[in-house]
Amino acid sequence: MSYDRNNIFAKILRKEIPYKKIFENDHVLSFHDINPQKKIHALVIPKGEYIDFDDFNNRASDQEIVALSKAITEVSKILGISIDAGKGYRALTNLSEHGGQEVPHLHFHLFGGEKVGKMVE
Ligand code: AMP
Repeated sequence: MSYDRNNIFAKILRKEIPYKKIFENDHVLSFHDINPQKKIHALVIPKGEYIDFDDFNNRASDQEIVALSKAITEVSKILGISIDAGKGYRALTNLSEHGGQEVPHLHFHLFGGEKVGKMVE
């Protein structure tokens, strides 16, 4: 499967559609999910064209991988849901069909602001 440049997050990265930005650096963009499942529901995505976490780990540079990982912690701090803030959150990524992935651009969900409940329903 090749990367679909018409996916919604590719459009957000090209600034073709609006989004509520939380954080940005050279490699990563974070914004609020349009349909929050918890009090806080953020998305953290790489700027590069990667379909999912496996694609990312296979093709991304070490710099991109480190940047995405660190951005998750950074975004949790910005949102006040970090371990430092005494809270905590869930970070997860869905992969492909069985994983329930809808948007084919790698994204980590950050859920928090309340107890997020059971891991798998
Ligand atoms: P997934 O099922 O893991 O692919 O998650 C896709 C997520 O993208 C869902 O939580 C959607 O609510 C979210 N989403 C879809 N379109 C947008 C958008 N335009 N801005 C922000 N989040 C979006």
